[in-house]
Amino acid sequence: LSGVKNIIAIASGKGGVGKSTLSVNLAVALAQTGAKVGLMDADIYGPSQPGMLGARDARPDVSGDMLQPVKKYGVDFVSMGLLIDNDGPVIWRAPMAMKIIHQFIGNVDWGKLDYLLIDLPPGTGDVQLTLAQQASLTGAVIVTTPQQVALGVAAKGLKMFEQVNVPILGVIENMSGFACKHCGKTTDIFKVGGGEALAKHSGVPYLGAIPLDPEIMMSGDSGVPVLESGNAS
Ligand code: ADP
Repeated sequence: LSGVKNIIAIASGKGGVGKSTLSVNLAVALAQTGAKVGLMDADIYGPSQPGMLGARDARPDVSGDMLQPVKKYGVDFVSMGLLIDNDGPVIWRAPMAMKIIHQFIGNVDWGKLDYLLIDLPPGTGDVQLTLAQQASLTGAVIVTTPQQVALGVAAKGLKMFEQVNVPILGVIENMSGFACKHCGKTTDIFKVGGGEALAKHSGVPYLGAIPLDPEIMMSGDSGVPVLESGNAS
């Protein structure tokens, strides 16, 4: 990955906190600034980037033993979802999954990039450790939702990166409050402020909060990221 200036892992403790949604939208937002951006979907067992980027049927070109990333909304991306049948489960033991991760690092023609975002699977397993140790990460962003069950696991993810000397760029609190379009009032469905408290407690930057917003979910389902569709509130 010698042509990549910044390699940033997007990590979470639990699944379903919006890590992939954030990765896709961050990638699109960075590309909109004119930066060259790549996105690696490292969630081998549950790849969601092809769906969120509206590229379910895309297949990457292969030349020699190098895979060409698929381009969508100005972002070059690879995902296990581009290599398998849409509805088929990925049934692999860990060593096979690790092989794919190594190939996503070494056998993808990433070219010159300003940013490579890596959407990690949830948790602190082999994939996270390998990438943290072998991909020369610039830093990691931790995504969490505000409630205790998510925060406790996010703190573990944060510690894992610290233990392998990867700088934590900060914590983002997702699904932070829901503003009702009908009555105008905000309900803190999963509480609020937990992400900021985690950042403070861990001595890392707090990057901000993203509200719970149906537009974000619908844009993910429709394959047009909310920062591309212009529907972000
Ligand atoms: P993860 O990658 O952490 O498993 P996803 O990004 O797949 O999580 O998000 C899980 C679900 O929550 C998706 O359906 C996504 O569209 C939705 N979602 C994520 N963030 C928000 C948000 N801020 N508001 C509404 N829905 C969201």
